Amino acid sequence: MALAEETKRIAAQFEYTDDDVNKGVHEFLRQMNEGLEHDGTSMSQIPTYVTGVPNGTEKGLYLAVDLGGTNFRVCSIHLNGDTTFNLTYSKIPIPKEMMVAEQASDLFGFLAKQIELFLRTHHEDHFEAHIRRRQTVSTPEGYRDEQIFRLGFTFSFPVRQVGINKGTLMRWTKGFDIPDAVGKDVCALLQQEIDRLHLPVKVAALVNDTVGTLMARSYTSPGKTSTLLGAIFGTGTNGAYVEKVTNIKKPVEGDYDKSTGLMVINTEWGSFDNQLNVLPNTSYDIELDKKSVNPGIQIFEKRVSGMFLGEIVRLVIVDMLKKPEISLFKDENSSHNDWKSTTTIGPESGVFQQWGIDSSIMSIAAADGTPDQSSLRQELEKQLHIYAASLEDAQAFRTVANAVGRRAARLSAVALGAVVLQSGKLQEAGDDPVDIGVDGSLVEHYPFFRDMIYEALAAVDGIGPEGAKRIRIGIAKDGSGVGAALIALVAANME
Ligand code: ADP
Repeated sequence: MALAEETKRIAAQFEYTDDDVNKGVHEFLRQMNEGLEHDGTSMSQIPTYVTGVPNGTEKGLYLAVDLGGTNFRVCSIHLNGDTTFNLTYSKIPIPKEMMVAEQASDLFGFLAKQIELFLRTHHEDHFEAHIRRRQTVSTPEGYRDEQIFRLGFTFSFPVRQVGINKGTLMRWTKGFDIPDAVGKDVCALLQQEIDRLHLPVKVAALVNDTVGTLMARSYTSPGKTSTLLGAIFGTGTNGAYVEKVTNIKKPVEGDYDKSTGLMVINTEWGSFDNQLNVLPNTSYDIELDKKSVNPGIQIFEKRVSGMFLGEIVRLVIVDMLKKPEISLFKDENSSHNDWKSTTTIGPESGVFQQWGIDSSIMSIAAADGTPDQSSLRQELEKQLHIYAASLEDAQAFRTVANAVGRRAARLSAVALGAVVLQSGKLQEAGDDPVDIGVDGSLVEHYPFFRDMIYEALAAVDGIGPEGAKRIRIGIAKDGSGVGAALIALVAANME
């Protein structure tokens, strides 16, 4: 009994009421608009120089590359003009020595070489035709035509973007360290190496993955409705949405197409409310933040995204294990008296290590509605070396995991609801859906994540149950491929 009661008491700390949701939305709107006014605010609200979203009729063959971690991805995308596309894809591991090369040209030369290999393998005809034409004209201008591939470059490192295909690298992350590249325009670095190999490729756009999600969804979404927002709920969380240029009060440097009156804004909402005006802050959230590599920042992300949810659950479980009177995962036969050894958990278990619980087990907990919790108990054993968990143990784990997951979904609704209200789209005449594209394992695989988002949206003042029905949340696939291609297309139309 003590276990069930204590679990209920802890789970209650993760309740995020309708009233909390409304306070959250109100503050989110305030911080969004603050970010549109000036730099240095908690949400960066970065202009992306993308001034429109596709409607599904776009056509053509485009290239997309993605440098963001351990692999370099190259793909070509054929947009069929009917909301469908065909994608050809290759993935190349980046050699360690390239990540810490002496010169920027070592890494970017390697990337250009991969693009050449990809073109020779998958687009030989196109490639040969280009080489032949080049031999017959003497100036680069002479062969600047539609035969040149436009390329969207997804580059997931901090950059200061100053144009649709211009952005300087602020610093490397994720194990890369090539000081020579810092402060340089990464599109120009790639273009130089492409030109050195005489490839028929123009780096047309610098792409943020969240913007890619928005574009991919807008192209593939059913009907004529263009998409308002692209949102990622995976390892991290972020969103990009379509804003009216008149609402952007801070100066936007550089050139962009002014005819649409629109600009896609990359919110960087992972850092919403770093000052903790409204976000919930349990002792577990505080502990997670304190032991993270970046205390005090990405506060919203630390309550919402896949990388952190498992760790919140772990901190709760450890806290419960340290209270012997609760008897969670208790080994009744143990004669030891330290808290780890009196459990049925193997010493190698992730329960005892920071980041040791992956949030995917929360999906299994949420999905297991069986009376004996058999699949969850199996998974506890397989993933976490928790042996002979009793039914009560499994139920306690499930209650904690569900409370953390439900709070994450309701917090996600704060971000989505605020962007919908900011757009004013629900007030517009007609009953067109307000379309939102989402991507990431959490929203794709966590059971009922979208249902819980809808439930919270229906409670938002200014949205309500009727408004929530008009909001259409759909999965956007292949954002970094087709999305990058679509941004290259928008950029090419501006040339
Ligand atoms: P990324 O965001 O890196 O592109 P994903 O969208 O796959 O990749 O997100 C990975 C994150 O999602 C990891 O933090 C992982 O723990 C979490 N995750 C993976 N599968 C699931 C699942 N079934 N349920 C909940 N979280 C999951």
